[in-house]
Amino acid sequence: MEIIKAVRGFKDILPGETERWQFVEDTARKVFSDFGFKEIKIPVLEKTELFRRSIGETTDIVEKEMYTFEDRGGESLTLRPEATASVMRAYLEHSLHASDAVSKLFTFGPMFRRERPQKGRYRQFHQINVELLGPGDALVDAEVIYMLMLFLERVRLTGVSLEINSLGCPECRPSFRKVLGEYLAKKEKTLCEDCQRRLGTNPLRVFDCKVEGCKAAVSAAPFLIDYICERCKEHFREDQEGLKALKTAFAVNPRMVRGLDYYTKTTFEVTTKSLGAQNAVAGGGRYDRLVKDLGGPEVPGIGFAVGVERLISLLPELMEDIVRSPDLYIASLGQEARKLAFILCNRLRHLGILAETDYSNRSLKSQMKRSDKLGARYTLLLGENELKERKAFLRNMKGGSQEPVGLDDMENQLVSLLKAR
Ligand code: ATP
Ligand code: MG
Repeated sequence: MEIIKAVRGFKDILPGETERWQFVEDTARKVFSDFGFKEIKIPVLEKTELFRRSIGETTDIVEKEMYTFEDRGGESLTLRPEATASVMRAYLEHSLHASDAVSKLFTFGPMFRRERPQKGRYRQFHQINVELLGPGDALVDAEVIYMLMLFLERVRLTGVSLEINSLGCPECRPSFRKVLGEYLAKKEKTLCEDCQRRLGTNPLRVFDCKVEGCKAAVSAAPFLIDYICERCKEHFREDQEGLKALKTAFAVNPRMVRGLDYYTKTTFEVTTKSLGAQNAVAGGGRYDRLVKDLGGPEVPGIGFAVGVERLISLLPELMEDIVRSPDLYIASLGQEARKLAFILCNRLRHLGILAETDYSNRSLKSQMKRSDKLGARYTLLLGENELKERKAFLRNMKGGSQEPVGLDDMENQLVSLLKAR
């Protein structure tokens, strides 16, 4: 019978890889909590309306990529394509703004977008999301970006560049939209169908289009940052000063618009050359209108998302120190020794030592092989003779040296031996 395989674009993360995931998540938890952020857990399924209203009707995500379906009750639901909208929903639903003027939140989890699967692009992928709600100051932008870069450094990612831009605000963006619309109208024929349609509704989206003709069409287009209002300019200037003060290297990329409509003012992206076409590791920006647009009070916010699969594919190959192998393998021969091995093994685990043993009465040779395969640091040899003489031998698997360990009080001896080394 043929086995059933996973859905296209969905993948399993197997042991050997999961250690890296844990390392990334543990590092994120540590770094973010040093900055005062707290974890929030949110559902993967939301009402479709939430994403339509926040991400924007004319974005690729909402137009083409969402997993939307009617549930048995006839309600339109969507597997979340991103996390910010859900965090905002939770923020409003539980009136977090009423209990604290500043909310610093982060969350981990899968996102779903029906894109064409390829390297670095999946239909279920994972993000680490950070949102900071309350203050609208530019120094907060610099701080959040600084935290992102520090996190990437702590997971030992190298060779990344940070690009920033300003997308202006609802006061200054419409005038640019007009200028850009007029510019692009002249190149209408070279645009893809989607972008032709978006010309009338949301010409900024052409900047985010990956079709070659569209990329060429915007290559000499006017820049939004040349049209933003004085307040947005000042905000962008302060943000950059903040980044410089925190010694965070960046470049201004006036073409970056990001794929979601809710961004205002500061946007940023972290890219790397070694990822090929899917080169964005993380992206984010300020969204000063989003909470209000979702029916809440006027609370500014800023956040970012890290693509975990892409990040993990970039981590240095040699990360042996994060994969845990046994401290001790207990090889036993004979009924009695086996029983003692069983008890000792579980007692040691209870004391925080990773111990393994054999239950199938295999030969000493195959037990040694198994110990080697597991990468155990030490092997304890426990046979009938050893039981008689009330001592076992502890073999260092790297150097090959052996030393006797008395059977009485063996647990404590082993713990102090293993923990000391
Ligand atoms: P891209 O331009 O590569 O499509 P994006 O702008 O759509 O990225 P965001 O919505 O900003 O991505 O999401 C943040 C991060 O999530 C990205 O920088 C990327 O690392 C990751 N990401 C986005 N889409 C996918 C996907 N389909 N598969 C894997 N990772 C993804
Ligand atoms: Mg995308």
